[in-house]
Amino acid sequence: KVIEGEALRKKMHNTILELKGNIRVFCRVRPFLSDDGLDSVTKTISFPTTTEALGRGIEVVQQGQTHPFMFDKVFTPQSSQEEVFVEISQLVQSALDGYKVCIFAYGQTGSGKTHTMMGTPGSYDDKGLIPRSLEQIFDAREKLKEQGWKYEMQVSMLEIYNETIRDLLSSNKSCSTDSGNKQQYAIKHDSNGNTNVADLTIVDVRSSKEVAFLLNRAAQSRSVGKTQMNEQSSRSHFVFTLRISGVNETMEQHVQGVLNLIDLAGSERLSKSGSTGDRLKETQAINKSLSSLTDVIFALAKKEEHIPYRNSKLTYLLQPCLGGDSKTLMVVNVSPAPSSVNESLCSLRFAARVNACEISIPRRQTSMRYLEPRLSYG
Ligand code: ADP
Ligand code: MG
Repeated sequence: KVIEGEALRKKMHNTILELKGNIRVFCRVRPFLSDDGLDSVTKTISFPTTTEALGRGIEVVQQGQTHPFMFDKVFTPQSSQEEVFVEISQLVQSALDGYKVCIFAYGQTGSGKTHTMMGTPGSYDDKGLIPRSLEQIFDAREKLKEQGWKYEMQVSMLEIYNETIRDLLSSNKSCSTDSGNKQQYAIKHDSNGNTNVADLTIVDVRSSKEVAFLLNRAAQSRSVGKTQMNEQSSRSHFVFTLRISGVNETMEQHVQGVLNLIDLAGSERLSKSGSTGDRLKETQAINKSLSSLTDVIFALAKKEEHIPYRNSKLTYLLQPCLGGDSKTLMVVNVSPAPSSVNESLCSLRFAARVNACEISIPRRQTSMRYLEPRLSYG
């Protein structure tokens, strides 16, 4: 009976996905912080409570004009890490069913991407998506054992900075990058959709504790880079990859899933960061890979013949996990600070492009109108 119920759940889940497409967009607004200034009286962000928009709508007021957006889910500053994870756990679970999954955190620096992904290390309630996902996967693995499934899991963690890959689990302390050696960290995909990054450290893992240990190591490696390379962590993409391989001999089944959890570089625009020299090059590289990511997602949504995966390291690395029957979730993080309103609007517009559901309401028009997200993809 339990197995039947489980099979039904999976079937329903997949039917819903077929109807709605494989890309989801969630939005999360973080709470006010003391650093945001005392301007919290000027409310720039609100959450409509109409039946249609409840839990899915967000409105931003900029210079007297209201910009409404609608996503698959909107989390308010009150939403806990647990509440966010509940909405994501099924997607995480599907990696065990053999799907390729990508979950991205997008947003300007300081909007809560790392909080959403990692949370506060050591704080149980504040754990983010990555530790929660791993706990769920290893718990589920134990249960699936009873049904004859044997799983093997492998982890790798890397950073893409200025279109350059850095191995975060390398025991080589010199923070090597691929700039000097063309062959190192070369990305190759085989015909089965498996990705191989030359020389990248891949670690077999047997428990979520082991992964937590590796995450710590990666965080340390990232912070070394940070002081050496100009706050690199907010200017680089962090890519966590869990490869899952499951065999059930009695059922003669074999599944291979991948879970990619990605903390993207800050999406702030060129003008604000006042870039020159190295900074300019860096910002251009970030903008290039973020816009390549949109281009790829957009081309996939429109079912275009040519998908421009090769335009950036990030999209090329994730090629087998974007498109096909893989599943993508974009969590767009937004700061509520009035000083960030322009940047927040940029992030939401980006998200809306991905979600294809933004409508701008002219100044004096009062009636609210939202499009059903995604159904327009046809
Ligand atoms: P980013 O990674 O986008 O630069 P962070 O995740 O580092 O941003 O968040 C910036 C600050 O806001 C951090 O101090 C973080 O702890 C805090 N923060 C972000 N999101 C939340 C949240 N949902 N609840 C409480 N604090 C948060
Ligand atoms: Mg961060």
